[in-house]
Amino acid sequence: MNAAVFLDRDGTLIEEVGYLDRKERVELYPWTIDAVRALNRAGFRVVLVSNQSGVARGFFNEEIVADVHRHIADLLEAGGARIDAYYYCPHHPDGKVKEYAVACDCRKPARGMVDRAVRELAIDPARSVVVGDRWLDVELARAVGARGVLVRTGYGVTEEAKPRPPLAADAVVDNLIAAVSWILRSG
Ligand SMILES: [Mg+2]
Ligand SMILES: [Zn+2]
Repeated sequence: MNAAVFLDRDGTLIEEVGYLDRKERVELYPWTIDAVRALNRAGFRVVLVSNQSGVARGFFNEEIVADVHRHIADLLEAGGARIDAYYYCPHHPDGKVKEYAVACDCRKPARGMVDRAVRELAIDPARSVVVGDRWLDVELARAVGARGVLVRTGYGVTEEAKPRPPLAADAVVDNLIAAVSWILRSG
């Protein structure tokens, strides 16, 4: 069984730019490649888990999401870093596009994407960590029995200012590279 780090995408792995509707708008943070590569080297599976309700809302389609993820993979690969699997939820209960307008089990904080990774990549959630800029990422960690780290990039500062007790992160850190340091220190 593998340990994994589940990474939120927007505001955690890449800059938060609202609904990301073309790959040209992808901006890695200056530390993103180093952070992912450090996790690769430490033996973690690195799994992207992203809510992309823009698909259900009709702002972009799944081809665009795939295009963005291929582009991220290319940028990472150029720096010797790798995300092992890219999962996203295209749904939203109030979506305009009928086929995606459902209450699904994969929109974070629901655990569907993690459950899929557990099956497909033989992951042990209890040895894993979720990193994200929203409380729903920490909520996902709690739901699956993983540790949860909130980063202050993206919406993180705003989220930190609006705590949601009894929900608490295992760590609140400035950004992804600080989250990786915390993960590598705490084993
Ligand atoms: Mg985010
Ligand atoms: Zn979904």
